Amino acid sequence: MNEIPHNPARTHLALILLAAMGAVSLIVLWGWLTDSFYATTFLLGAASMKANSALGFLAMMIGTLAIWQKQYRISVVCGLAVMVLGVVTIFEYLFGLRLGIDELLFPDPWNPVNPGRMALGTAASFVLGGALLALHHTYPHQHINWYDALLTAFLAIPLFVFFSYVFAPDEVLKTPALGSMPLHCSLNFLFFFFALLLLTTSKGAAGLLNRNTRNARNFRWLFFLVLILPLCLGSVLNYGVQHHWIGTGVGIAIFCLFCTLIVASALAHHTIQMDHWFRQLVQERRRTNQLRSQIHELLEISADAIVLFDDHLNILHANSGAERILGYSPQELCSMSMALLLPENLRNNAAGMLDRYVKIDRSYSLNLPDRLMLLHKDGHEVPVAATLSKKEHEDQTLIIAIIKNIEKLDDHIRSLEKKASIDPLTQTENRSEFEEFCRRINLHMLRKSDLSFCVMLLDIDNFKAINDSHGHKIGDIVLTQFSQVVKQTLRDGDRLFRTGGEEFVVVSANVLPEDALAFGERIRKAVEELEIFTNELTLRVTCSIGICVVDPSTVDLLDAVQRADSAMYQAKRQGKNCCVLAERH
Ligand code: GH3
Ligand code: MG
Ligand code: MG
Repeated sequence: MNEIPHNPARTHLALILLAAMGAVSLIVLWGWLTDSFYATTFLLGAASMKANSALGFLAMMIGTLAIWQKQYRISVVCGLAVMVLGVVTIFEYLFGLRLGIDELLFPDPWNPVNPGRMALGTAASFVLGGALLALHHTYPHQHINWYDALLTAFLAIPLFVFFSYVFAPDEVLKTPALGSMPLHCSLNFLFFFFALLLLTTSKGAAGLLNRNTRNARNFRWLFFLVLILPLCLGSVLNYGVQHHWIGTGVGIAIFCLFCTLIVASALAHHTIQMDHWFRQLVQERRRTNQLRSQIHELLEISADAIVLFDDHLNILHANSGAERILGYSPQELCSMSMALLLPENLRNNAAGMLDRYVKIDRSYSLNLPDRLMLLHKDGHEVPVAATLSKKEHEDQTLIIAIIKNIEKLDDHIRSLEKKASIDPLTQTENRSEFEEFCRRINLHMLRKSDLSFCVMLLDIDNFKAINDSHGHKIGDIVLTQFSQVVKQTLRDGDRLFRTGGEEFVVVSANVLPEDALAFGERIRKAVEELEIFTNELTLRVTCSIGICVVDPSTVDLLDAVQRADSAMYQAKRQGKNCCVLAERH
């Protein structure tokens, strides 16, 4: 979770800072052990670093080293210990308590007011520093967060003290009520701060030293502010010191500075967050707009016609696909009604349907089940498939029609239909087509016309024997030539179906009952005279024909077929190669 910088130089620098911090603390401790005033004040001869502060710094050092080694449990323990130290001291200051932990070690003989107690500023810094250690493992490196604010706030006190020493080195000591934070304490905190920064990478304050992102730059400004403020306040303090009105004023100044910095860092943090959020929003908007315009462009160049119209069927928008399919330019379409695109014979029905769809009181999409014919600009009809989608928009209804040209698909379906209806061997229509024909003829034509129909059933005689003696191949050639000869004898409009292996049906319109037998005889003779040449031999075949003439009043063609079939079997019984006319009802 925590990234340790890969740059070893950064780690080395952090270790040097931590070593300095440890060394200062150890020298101070040694000073207390040997009663050396100069060691505890670090040769500065001013305030001394208390023994508990020195121990606190050692804990901070260990905690920071633990972060470097990713031993977060240790860093949390050290952080909490340091925080406890700071919190207890702050309590003592706030409530005037004497819990005594400050005096457990070495009372400071040079500071009678606070003999062993660290300065209030030191305690506050320990609380913040301890929090930085304890919370470091929860620090998300990807973006700026509260941890950066905490880091920034942490810097306030040590810097302030540092500058106070610069501006009023002697007078700082005269604030015994709040303790005097020694210079080497503030230096130790600064060492800690930079060591932590060096061991942490982020996009915010912790990334100050290694990133040149906008956020890091913002934080640099913030740090600049942090530096300037103590400088100004330091000058004021200096002035105050000259005029002897320091004392609690210094505490208030520290508190105000502290608050200012927390608010400043929180504001900076918030601004950066907002900035980040805003940029993301702008980016998202841009991406959405880009996507929208790309979708629009794609729709514009779509091969399908996309037509937008309102509830009065007035076209509002059309793409270039509409021009390709319907011939009208998008501008021309925009001044037209959808109804005008429908062929006249369909217009009333289809426009009515469309109107009903439009009037339905909800948004929904409709896939038109059948193909629809639309009028091309040049007058011809284009078969299309269409999907309608409707959206109620405030008080307006918008309908989008996606129209697909199925001309090619239609041709393909027709050729498939044809393939499915033709017998591949004899190229005559097959049984399923015959059944379809029976259905259609029954429904439409026979009932309306007064034409009589002739149904003939043809069956090749002894065909099995041909197969048996010459083989299936020759049998197939016979079937092919037979059907060709029959076709040649038929008139235009007559239809020939292969309904079984060597069984065929002829349906002929407009045949008088008295002519039917002669018609059958013509076919029979043509077959009889047919010479079938194969590679080695010449074959002849005959066929038996059953004929049934259908009265216009008869509506069931299948019944006629049945009767023709019986007549055909009668012909077989009569010795084959003859025609038999079924008796009329
Ligand atoms: P009948 O004079 O009584 O009609 O006798 P038939 O032998 O013609 O009649 P049958 O129904 O006994 O025989 C029909 C034969 O037609 C049987 C079958 O092997 C053959 N057949 C059916 N379809 C085809 C085909 O596509 N090609 C070939 N070569 N033979 C077929
Ligand atoms: Mg047969
Ligand atoms: Mg036969």
